[in-house]
Amino acid sequence: MVVSVGHGVAEIARAVATQARALAYVNGTQFTSAPLEGLAADLVSVAPNGLTRALFLTSGSEAVEAAVKLALQYWVERGEPRKTRVIVRRPAYHGNTLAALSLGARESYRKYFGDWMQSPPRIAGPTCYRCPLEKTYPSCKVACADELDRAIDALGEENVAAFLAEPVFGASGAAAVPPPEYWPKIREICNRRSILWIADEVLSGMGRTGRWFAVDHYGVSPDVLAAGKGISGGYAPLSAVLARGEIVETIARAGHDFEHHQTYSQTPVICAAGRATIRVLRSKRLVERAARMGAVLLEALEPVKRLDAVGDVRGIGLLAGIEFVADRATKKPFPRRRRFCERVAEAAFARGLLVWPQGGDADGTDGDSILLAPPFTVTRAEIKEIAHRLEEAIRATEVAGAKA
Ligand code: PLP
Repeated sequence: MVVSVGHGVAEIARAVATQARALAYVNGTQFTSAPLEGLAADLVSVAPNGLTRALFLTSGSEAVEAAVKLALQYWVERGEPRKTRVIVRRPAYHGNTLAALSLGARESYRKYFGDWMQSPPRIAGPTCYRCPLEKTYPSCKVACADELDRAIDALGEENVAAFLAEPVFGASGAAAVPPPEYWPKIREICNRRSILWIADEVLSGMGRTGRWFAVDHYGVSPDVLAAGKGISGGYAPLSAVLARGEIVETIARAGHDFEHHQTYSQTPVICAAGRATIRVLRSKRLVERAARMGAVLLEALEPVKRLDAVGDVRGIGLLAGIEFVADRATKKPFPRRRRFCERVAEAAFARGLLVWPQGGDADGTDGDSILLAPPFTVTRAEIKEIAHRLEEAIRATEVAGAKA
């Protein structure tokens, strides 16, 4: 999910070393630098329409929190300080620091932190395999998007700052892809109700879905976007917040800076890694490759779909999710204590294949899924091998379960 460009890319290593020799660090609140300006320009040139401003941090969790803070400060500067509520979804994962964890919906991650965990207003997400509204697409008319309208009604439009969600589900929701109408509908609601849409593209961005950003598949742009993971290919800890110009200009017109400063924000040596990664993604046309190889991956996973324990195979680009079930007809999940997805991951690891297991997606406790996210450099032969080893790993887990 991170090393999209592959390991050992000499060009990126060189760019980091060259920058470290020239100027490793300046404080981001007082100085700009060539790698920072260059990275901002490069990122904006591939960003969804209208996202013209960038801020760089060092993790996805920070980017999500800074995105929310930006939305809150924007409304204060606009003279609407009551707009403080942020509506989120279930399932959701937005990071592991206290506020990011509060915004996420994964109870097992939140359980130790008591009162520190807030409970933001939450709506059902578009997880069509297990529709939370018990409807079927397309006759549902994407009713789950209308839930946002209802949540805004309940809270009062004047109290809502933003809607935060992942455009394509990642570690929570296992690569579920919302129907084509979902994001245009959300965009229309956010415009009509005067709330900001924050897209968490920490996992789905930077080419993973076969477009630079997952929202590009839907032809709409968010107001604020958080990026991370593949933005620096794993060569340095980097994340970004992108925003519409008007948001930043509103704060500047009020005579203020965005109130978010951290020691390693906008660090030259880290920005150099991001710049070089974007250069590699572009020069090797790796985002286009992710789209092409993604189609090959989903096709290669066809035999996996037929396995008894597999309820759903889904995804987009080089992000694929597999949801396991005890009963394909009823979609009944395995009990969590069976640790089905972890055991698939262990069986895959024993076969030299790394997958990301995730429990609890069906009802918060039960439910097993895995994510596959190979580098964009993956070959057809390697995809065949991935599908083959995964099939063997799932079969081995099924057999071990039947014996137990
Ligand atoms: N948001 C999403 C959608 C993620 O998948 C993640 C990490 O998995 C994060 C935020 C948090 O990023 P980080 O682990 O870099 O803090």
